[in-house]
Amino acid sequence: MLIKYGLCYNSGVDIKKLIKPNIRALRAYQAEEIPCRIKLDANESPYSAISSQSGSTRTEQSAVSFKNNLQTLNRYPDPQATTIRKLIAKELKVKPQNILHGNGSDELIYNLISVFGGPVLYPGPTFSMYGIISQALGEKKVEVPLDNKFDLDVKKMLAAIKKYKPKLVFLSSPNNPTGNCFSEDRILKIIRQSKGLVIVDEAYQPFSDKKSFVPLIRKYKNLVILRTLSKIGLAGLRVGFMITGPDIINEVNKVRLPFNVNVLSQKVASEALQNRRQMKSDIRAIISGRKRLYKELSEMDGVIPYPSDANFIFFKVEDGNRIYGGLLDKGVLIRNMNSVGDGFLRVTIGTPQENEIFIKTLKQVL
Ligand code: PMP
Repeated sequence: MLIKYGLCYNSGVDIKKLIKPNIRALRAYQAEEIPCRIKLDANESPYSAISSQSGSTRTEQSAVSFKNNLQTLNRYPDPQATTIRKLIAKELKVKPQNILHGNGSDELIYNLISVFGGPVLYPGPTFSMYGIISQALGEKKVEVPLDNKFDLDVKKMLAAIKKYKPKLVFLSSPNNPTGNCFSEDRILKIIRQSKGLVIVDEAYQPFSDKKSFVPLIRKYKNLVILRTLSKIGLAGLRVGFMITGPDIINEVNKVRLPFNVNVLSQKVASEALQNRRQMKSDIRAIISGRKRLYKELSEMDGVIPYPSDANFIFFKVEDGNRIYGGLLDKGVLIRNMNSVGDGFLRVTIGTPQENEIFIKTLKQVL
């Protein structure tokens, strides 16, 4: 191939034709940066989880920690992420051998599908990465619609399990984008009847008053739980965890890249996990913001909000594209969920001020 002044002269190469058909047919995850004044589209926390100690501000604190950690950047990170695994194990009352760390829980979803393969089964609508990664890895994916309350349609799920014998079943509970937890007894039925793994993705569990499935890993060896620091104030770090038995952990560890969580992320995550006070009070603030926002939305004409156990609210309006565009024109970015159906939107809970501006702007646009 001849390259001159940055121009490529080998016109005989058709890149599109070189791409595997499953990748060519794939649509990338929608994660573009859209300029806005108020960002309520990505289910992040409006608060940074780096706590204030002895009077210093959160920003001062992170700056100090950042400077200290720059000194260790000549070394690779701890490949076993020992400290953060110990801390999360303690918090969840399991052993460090039950924890595997990921560069975000996205990476663990990728690793699980690489190790076990498909078919991969999940209800719909749900978190789009289960389908995107399955397709990227060339695995068969099966989506079963949720019932009319956005709960698992257990009959259809069990029938699909019987028919397709999925190696992996992904259940996001609370579910993104609908916001609700699935019924405990329905999840249990699926765990019990499945011959493959059932992954309960608890990315939003900290915002829910329903029980976590973590203690059940002792009882069901095909149960895997996913957790992340992304929704509780540390999305920028990219740190997620998988909680399950050592047999599954050992296999997934074979495909995990050795230094997947970098030095800075491990250090900042361990600081945040050692001082949970701030994180917990931020979670409480988000839950109370959600309650207020839900009430406001339900009192609005032409808006149907759905009950949420997460840090966002899924809602329906008549003309979703118009409302989404109208809000964005006024600087307020939410998530257009028109892939789910006409009129569906999702708003992340922000600070009380951000929520107020969202409500005020929504009223104007409506
Ligand atoms: N699971 C669910 C249900 C999610 O909504 C998200 C984030 N959108 C993730 C996992 C991925 O989180 P992380 O930032 O840990 O990769």
